[in-house]
Amino acid sequence: MSSEVKYARRLDLKNGRVDMSHGGGGRAMLQLISELFARPLGNEYLAQGDDGACLPAAQGRLVVSTDSHVVSPLFFPGGDIGSLAVHGTVNDVAVMGATPLYLTAGFILEEGFPLADLARIAVSMARAAQEAGVKLVAGDTKVVEQGKGDGVFITTTGIGILPEGLHLSGNQARPGDVVLLSGSLGDHGVAIMSQRENLSFASAILSDSAALNGLTSAMLASGAVLRVMRDPTRGGLAATLNEIAQQSGVGIHLEEAAIPVKPEVEAACELLGLDPLNIANEGKLIAICAAEDAEKLLAAMRAHPQGAQAAIIGRVVEDASAFVQMKTRFGGRRMVDWLSGEQLPRIC
Ligand code: MG
Repeated sequence: MSSEVKYARRLDLKNGRVDMSHGGGGRAMLQLISELFARPLGNEYLAQGDDGACLPAAQGRLVVSTDSHVVSPLFFPGGDIGSLAVHGTVNDVAVMGATPLYLTAGFILEEGFPLADLARIAVSMARAAQEAGVKLVAGDTKVVEQGKGDGVFITTTGIGILPEGLHLSGNQARPGDVVLLSGSLGDHGVAIMSQRENLSFASAILSDSAALNGLTSAMLASGAVLRVMRDPTRGGLAATLNEIAQQSGVGIHLEEAAIPVKPEVEAACELLGLDPLNIANEGKLIAICAAEDAEKLLAAMRAHPQGAQAAIIGRVVEDASAFVQMKTRFGGRRMVDWLSGEQLPRIC
């Protein structure tokens, strides 16, 4: 039966809005899913149309990660909540050393949200998933009353395959290891904040939101023995390195002069009273490897477009207190601490 027969009218993707019936489990919901989501995002697994997607079992081990996205604004320079919801979860799977294959997505929609915006988000998700080589295999939509949500929230779960023998973990850093960063810090957080604060800078600052699985597979293929990979999202580099220092029971010494930050991001941070080390990134990763493999790994990262600005930014040291410290550009030393509280709410 074609959808034209089943529904008297097509969804009005130009002027229509989400209403309560779109979450009601009836025909309106089916229509929203088939016309707005399945058209850009469909594939053989989503098309099964059952309560769960039936996927072929794979060799190796499974890596599963889940992330909810509540970013505000929904559309920002360099991305939107749809692409971000794909990248964020793909990256969490990829930095485990796994190949991301499948995603599921749960949408919480606010009554009254324009269908045109929702369609734009669905298309953006589809493009991001295609670029990352992952398939959306299951999804869910719920609608909450006007005023009880904020447009759209998206929760994505990613599933990937981890080859036997590969074990990357925050507890693997050892004194003497080298810390690498794939590119400049702070772009995502500053892009969101400048949009939110209505700031305009001489050159637009774009979010770095991107899937990192191409970069991670190039890094793994380099032959360098990786101990840790992690994406410095919420809490930024400072939080990520403190987590690793705690997990491994080591200290980390950074060189401020080696940490790439774009001049326009630095200027925006000064204006907004932010520290680039604490700001969320959505297309960067840190890696820790043995010192003898550092140059090989750095070369592999720089040979990939997403690691062109990669740099060695510090070293792992023995330190029972698990402090992260940084040698400043002026030669002093300062602690790089976790933030207390939330510096930037709804950044991802
Ligand atoms: Mg992460």
